[in-house]
Amino acid sequence: MHVTIVGGGFGGVKAALEIAKNHKNRVTLITDKPDFQYYPTLYSSATGHSHTESWAPLGEIFADHTNIHVYVDKIVSINADKKRLNGESGTEYYYETLIMAVGVITSFFNIPGLETYAYGIKTAEEIQRLKQRLFIDIAEKGMLDHNYVVVGAGPTGIELASAIGTYIKRLCRYYGVRDHRVRVRLIEAAPRVLPRSSQMTSRRVTKRLKKMGIAVETNKRVERENATQLIVNGKPIESHTVIWTSGVSNHPIFAQHPEIFTLAPNGRVKVDDYLQAAEHIYVIGDNAATPYTGLAQTAIHDARTVARNLERKTKGRKPRKYRAVLPVSAIPVGARWAVIEWRWIRIYGWIGGVIRRAADLVGYSEILPLGTTLGAWRAAKIYENDYFTPTLRQVRRRK
Ligand SMILES: Cc1cc2nc3c(=O)[nH]c(=O)nc-3n(C[C@H](O)[C@H](O)[C@H](O)COP(=O)(O)OP(=O)(O)OC[C@H]3O[C@@H](n4cnc5c(N)ncnc54)[C@H](O)[C@@H]3O)c2cc1C
Repeated sequence: MHVTIVGGGFGGVKAALEIAKNHKNRVTLITDKPDFQYYPTLYSSATGHSHTESWAPLGEIFADHTNIHVYVDKIVSINADKKRLNGESGTEYYYETLIMAVGVITSFFNIPGLETYAYGIKTAEEIQRLKQRLFIDIAEKGMLDHNYVVVGAGPTGIELASAIGTYIKRLCRYYGVRDHRVRVRLIEAAPRVLPRSSQMTSRRVTKRLKKMGIAVETNKRVERENATQLIVNGKPIESHTVIWTSGVSNHPIFAQHPEIFTLAPNGRVKVDDYLQAAEHIYVIGDNAATPYTGLAQTAIHDARTVARNLERKTKGRKPRKYRAVLPVSAIPVGARWAVIEWRWIRIYGWIGGVIRRAADLVGYSEILPLGTTLGAWRAAKIYENDYFTPTLRQVRRRK
């Protein structure tokens, strides 16, 4: 069996690893980046922790799999009649069976100014831009912004808001900036933080954030942004460090092919009971309109389901229907504190922090080889000094 996979994220990499377990199978993985990105720890890499925590080269992941071939290319169109994919490089790829796992993209909901001025933390480039901003302010100019604003109090916004203050204070100490008053504001349009979690979790997390000195502002709508201000509910907030974690939308490639894909009202691709969207085409992970789409655990589960069914088909057995599995929610709020929520189970505090660390170990091990798993997991304790090569002026200030 030959399977072509587009996307080297959670869904794509897991599907490749599962299919390649049968040495007779061949996998072609086409992805636009040479690295796998572990999103759950991006907030940590964005706030000074090691890059190794969130990125692993695909070459390392597939080192022991000679039946997986990786092509770094961006797929720009699909021809289902001819079973062809077109890459940005001009290369045409033929497929027999196709799995699409290209993830979502950041959406600014057309709010004026956000695309130009706000920072994201979804890609390495976005994180680099944010770190550069902080570096220029603190190391070069020796000053702090009036406000550090995180927009969106979903899991990513909470994780980031609770980690960024500590990072900024650390930069201040390192570069000898005396003003340590870091004002972090968390803005949310919904009436409470973590709107998809229980009321009790929202309350506990709000209390924890406030204890950490973070201003939690709910029922606040972002209207526009310019170079120095964010306009929220008609009022300006002085800031040039606004981090947007609020919105994502499905990858545009699906809407560009209405002859192949049917979209659900939320923009995800409609799939059948076997995660199939069209003949010979499966759609998994964030792209598929499944009950728990939007989570890494779901992408891994989808990948496993499709891989197993393809294997069953080659053996002449009937494929099994997809069963959605409720993922465990594990959200860190500052160091060594997390909230765990699953059905009626709620765990808060340091025990939650331990469980979240264990969950990351499991998450890495789903994708990475053992050595890389341990390396990535331990990297949470390492600070990266990519902006710690001080210039003469900064050295003088430090003295
Ligand atoms: C900041 C952040 C924190 C998160 N935290 C958690 C968490 O704690 N727990 C959890 O369960 N989930 C978390 N998620 C969600 C989780 O990361 C996603 O649900 C998961 O990554 C989805 O997997 P996927 O394979 O569908 O897409 P992705 O993992 O996004 O992979 C898509 C891949 O496709 C590639 N690609 C994109 N376009 C093309 C193209 N045109 N051609 C070729 N390749 C392409 C991309 O580069 C990428 O490699 C988080 C997400 C973010 C952004």
